[in-house]
Amino acid sequence: MVVENGTMSKPGFSYVITAQAATGRAHCARIETPHGIIETPNFIFCATHGAIKSATMEQMEAVGAQFLLGNTYHLWLQPGYEIVAKHGGLHRFIGWNGPLLTDSGGFQIFSLTYGRVVDEIKGKVHRSKFPKSLLSITEEGALFRSHIDGRQRWLTPEKSIEIQQGLGADFILPLDECAPSHFNKEKTAQSMYRSHRWETRSLQYFQEHFTDRQCMYGIVQGGEFLDLRRESIDFINQQPFFAQALGGSLGIEKAQMYELVDGIMQRLVSRPTHLLGIGGLRDILEGVQSGVDTFDCVHPTRIARHGCALIARPEAEYAKEHINLKNAVYREDQNPIETDCDCYTCRNFTRAYLHHLFKAHEGTGGLLLTIHNARFMMRWMAAIRQAIQLGQWEVFYRQHRRR
Ligand SMILES: [Zn+2]
Repeated sequence: MVVENGTMSKPGFSYVITAQAATGRAHCARIETPHGIIETPNFIFCATHGAIKSATMEQMEAVGAQFLLGNTYHLWLQPGYEIVAKHGGLHRFIGWNGPLLTDSGGFQIFSLTYGRVVDEIKGKVHRSKFPKSLLSITEEGALFRSHIDGRQRWLTPEKSIEIQQGLGADFILPLDECAPSHFNKEKTAQSMYRSHRWETRSLQYFQEHFTDRQCMYGIVQGGEFLDLRRESIDFINQQPFFAQALGGSLGIEKAQMYELVDGIMQRLVSRPTHLLGIGGLRDILEGVQSGVDTFDCVHPTRIARHGCALIARPEAEYAKEHINLKNAVYREDQNPIETDCDCYTCRNFTRAYLHHLFKAHEGTGGLLLTIHNARFMMRWMAAIRQAIQLGQWEVFYRQHRRR
């Protein structure tokens, strides 16, 4: 590994900006990895347990997916990273030959105690349905009880990297503490400093257990407090990470989140930048405008399994970005979900058929909507990239922002 201009550089990995909007920070880039190229802006699909729920890897490839995310916490507890490593790593184990990212495992552990941080980040009020499984957080790491077998386990920064090296994704994340939005400023600051110390230990372990096939992201913390975020950015900017992610709570209101993300992006150095757990269409539009490269969210595949299809506005229902095909209005609708969509589902089936599958509780309904929603996300990201490449981003942004 070589550190050039403060950034990790390895053979097979690179980050090149290929187009820049005339004003602002929106851009297109190419992230090169040993498993192929990621064109940004792009969307990362969540293969939580090493699978996209209701779709095969072949189908994900067919919709144009370039980048998947696996969850370290889940893969550690089941089947265990040692088994994945014996298969030659996650790529071979799950049958995905493209770029892969794993998280640190911390997010799930902290969610078990603080409530689902992901809902908090997006401003949803949520009371945890899980029993308190996080037993203690110390400087060493987090002691928790496995929800699978009840065993006590320690997740430390070093352990997280050891597991992620066993899984072998192209990109890995350091362990950080995901502070919830109800933390006051003082507690958020303490949590942020601990995250920085954990990130330093993660990076140190990663560098000592050298592998040429992986690069590491740093994670900016600091909750919804811009001055704390600035401190965290200055810390991350100085570390030799290859890329960076925006973690933690970004505020309750959408407008507040967009402003905070923009403030963070102004100060971060130019590296591949990922916005963790955010993936609404409007959220992506604002994130791209601020200079974010990649986004991830379970939303498109999760709502598919509940009968909801992503659709371009203004046809979408109410203020939403989707329609619910279980609604009676689609019972006799002979149109595809979208007439201009080139996915397998829209080319072959009507809304009435999809409505019927959900009414009949046929699992195929979830599969067909997952294909459409995944393709929808890939078409949305391609449209964004094209607008930037053609010098039409400002018009595109203004048009879609109004909807
Ligand atoms: Zn479609």
